[in-house]
Amino acid sequence: MSLPTSAPAETATPGGAADHPAISLRGLRKTYGDVVAVDHVDLDIADGEFFSMLGPSGSGKTTVLRLIAGFEQATAGTVELGGSDVTRSAPFERDVHTVFQDYALFPHMSVLDNVAYGLRVRGMKKAERRERARQALETVRLGHLGARRPAQLSGGQRQRVALARAIVLQPRVLLLDEPLGALDLKLREQMQVELKQLQRELGITFVFVTHDQEEALTLSDRIAVFDAGRIQQLGTPREIYENPSSAYVAGFVGTTNLFDAETSQRILGVAGEHAVRPERLRLSPGSDTETPREGEVRLDAVVVETIYLGTGNRVHLRTSDGVELVALEQSTGSLDTREHRGEDVTVRFARADVVPLSS
Ligand code: ADP
Ligand code: MG
Repeated sequence: MSLPTSAPAETATPGGAADHPAISLRGLRKTYGDVVAVDHVDLDIADGEFFSMLGPSGSGKTTVLRLIAGFEQATAGTVELGGSDVTRSAPFERDVHTVFQDYALFPHMSVLDNVAYGLRVRGMKKAERRERARQALETVRLGHLGARRPAQLSGGQRQRVALARAIVLQPRVLLLDEPLGALDLKLREQMQVELKQLQRELGITFVFVTHDQEEALTLSDRIAVFDAGRIQQLGTPREIYENPSSAYVAGFVGTTNLFDAETSQRILGVAGEHAVRPERLRLSPGSDTETPREGEVRLDAVVVETIYLGTGNRVHLRTSDGVELVALEQSTGSLDTREHRGEDVTVRFARADVVPLSS
């Protein structure tokens, strides 16, 4: 990939960044007065990785992104890009580009000029920057709308212009702060697919901020789950989902059945907190008097509520000793298999599907 001439010299070295992570954060901390926005963040993001930062509002995701981009100065710790320490470098000295949630397009400029703007700032000649901008618009499938103004586009199209404006600069790293947050569900799902394809095509490192766990799970190579300025867990979507390290992560990433220490002891016979995903629970009608099979937990319960989800049912249950559970059943195509409120059922799950939580 050819880099713009104004890019930092070290990143222009062919293969120079390949031995280093695209982004390396060490002991990163940012405070605003008494507010600790980011604390003790250590993180390596590999070249070409689709990396997500997932967490609730206020957990420090945007601040980490702004520290990487250079819009904020770290209170402590370091930021390295491709092996170079940029902790004290200005934003324009960093080979990253940010796509903001509100897109920040210039309303008085055409779509093409919006996309070409960054190249103009870098001093590229008009003919060349228009050609590059046209290519970037083609990449996001908006080649035919270059003459329009942003106000003449739909939300999804504006989102794509914002992306084109970022990729035209060919940064090694693209920072995306809740870029799909303003789109309705259907468009968001479509843009998720397009983002993933774009990232594969371009081979750029994506750092994607979201509070939507499903979005993070479906798009990412790896996810960092944030809480109160810290990374609570770092792993692949599967690791985070199947083996959440804490009750916080288990609860934030997908629905789960959490057993506190007392409940774990009573119904599982084990010490400490545990979690079981709703899709691991199997239900059968009536109460079952047989002894449970080896490696199986069996509980008598009553159906509190069944919620039809289209793809299946979410069944809320209460065990005979008062433990609330949620089960997810895939639809078998027949509504007759639905459990009804007040019905007695037997709940089964494998001990192997019970995940111990550290805290
Ligand atoms: P997120 O993106 O996960 O919602 P942020 O990084 O925006 O979280 O914010 C993390 C914390 O830092 C929040 O408590 C927020 O109020 C605080 N914060 C962020 N920016 C500022 C600022 N410029 N001044 C004061 N507090 C801030
Ligand atoms: Mg934010």
